[in-house]
Amino acid sequence: MSIQNQLNTIKSALPQQVTLVAVSKTKPVSDILEAYNAGQRIFGENKIQEMAEKHEQLPKDIEWHMIGHVQRNKVKYMASFVNLIHGVDNEKLLVEINKQALKHKRIINCLLQIKIADEDSKFGMSEHEATTLLQSEVFASLKNINIVGLMGMATFTDNESQIKAEFTQLKTIFNTISALKETTEDFKIISMGMSGDYELAIACGSTMVRIGSSIFGARNY
Ligand SMILES: *Cc1c(COP(=O)(O)O)cnc(C)c1O
Repeated sequence: MSIQNQLNTIKSALPQQVTLVAVSKTKPVSDILEAYNAGQRIFGENKIQEMAEKHEQLPKDIEWHMIGHVQRNKVKYMASFVNLIHGVDNEKLLVEINKQALKHKRIINCLLQIKIADEDSKFGMSEHEATTLLQSEVFASLKNINIVGLMGMATFTDNESQIKAEFTQLKTIFNTISALKETTEDFKIISMGMSGDYELAIACGSTMVRIGSSIFGARNY
């Protein structure tokens, strides 16, 4: 199937409250344009420099989401244009995003990444760490970032009940954090679900799915 067909098939099956991030990492600009011409405007990348290069080359009404792990020293390369940073998992990173956003007179939307997977390789904070960060004095001083929700990745496993339990855990943490006075009415995104598990993620409360290979085909690294 073509990229356009895959995209349309997935989009038509998504509930309307769920936003699709088309994950275009490693894929050429021509593939992104094909999805763009089918109406897709939100694309996700996991490497900042790759995203910046693609941003340069592609239509400016694309919303770029950084879905990968963010190195602090590279925030400056995306601060002028990034729409949402999914993987914020520590205070120093948030301070740097705020600083770079201020330079560009922007407010940058961020998700806090919560570690729900049972794998050492996955990044993210615990619920306690996220709450502590949101209630800190440092956080209160950051005027150029907006925390709009949470992001999580389930364990890479065939065990569906484990994945379901992890997604449900993220939804529960989301409910707790959204009740804190430190979060605003903008706090409404739960970014969870990829090609292999997005239907389950939606059943567990996801409002944003990040889908790559089911749209663009398998990646060759
Ligand atoms: C690559 C990636 C995805 C998309 O994965 P697919 O299995 O290709 O859909 C989603 N989220 C993150 C954080 C990724 O790095």
